[in-house]
Amino acid sequence: MNFNDLKLNPRILDALEKENYVKPTPIQELAIPLVLEGKDLLGCAQTGTGKTAAFAVPILQLLSTRAVNKSEPRKIRSLILTPTRELALQIYDNFHSYGRYTRLHACVVFGGVSQKMQVEKLKRGVDILVATPGRLNDLMNQGYIDLQFVEILVLDEADRMLDMGFIADVKKIITKIPAQRQTLLFSATMPKEIEEMAESMLKDPEYVTV
Ligand code: AMP
Repeated sequence: MNFNDLKLNPRILDALEKENYVKPTPIQELAIPLVLEGKDLLGCAQTGTGKTAAFAVPILQLLSTRAVNKSEPRKIRSLILTPTRELALQIYDNFHSYGRYTRLHACVVFGGVSQKMQVEKLKRGVDILVATPGRLNDLMNQGYIDLQFVEILVLDEADRMLDMGFIADVKKIITKIPAQRQTLLFSATMPKEIEEMAESMLKDPEYVTV
């Protein structure tokens, strides 16, 4: 199997070629077609398996093929929650690379730095937001972020978000996202709390383990 077999559009295939990706990793092979079909997903995978592209590539494809009113400001249509600044930056970089030939704009927000630049970028309009839960909640409380147009939600490294005490923030954030959405949850381990969260958040999910 190679990327050409995954029904990806040329803009995305060209970007993957530019990354020198030849073959999809096992999680990409399994997850990309399911995400493209609009399914919810529970993925059990560690960092290093290629799980970022497993969600970023189909999200870019779905968003770039759905019609939007170009005369209106961009709205956040996909939100990726991840526990740390390092992961947030890596995921953002990957969206940027894989989406280089699309017109989609991504933005990343995380704590520990001034929010000024992040707010300026948000105001210019973004399609895809990568965020750590604490900073996202702060920005939401100040009215800088509207999640009512989110179509695809990703919870990345859910078990680490739990360990780091972010679950209350995550649950609060999710109340602001439409129930009618696609949800992808990735976790390296499946403690009981994550299983319960998955059960309450995912609709008829597909399970992918690598
Ligand atoms: P991740 O598990 O998403 O953190 O990815 C781990 C590393 O593998 C990153 O450096 C990616 O750029 C790289 N990678 C992801 N998918 C592929 C692929 N299909 N072929 C080659 N490298 C890849």
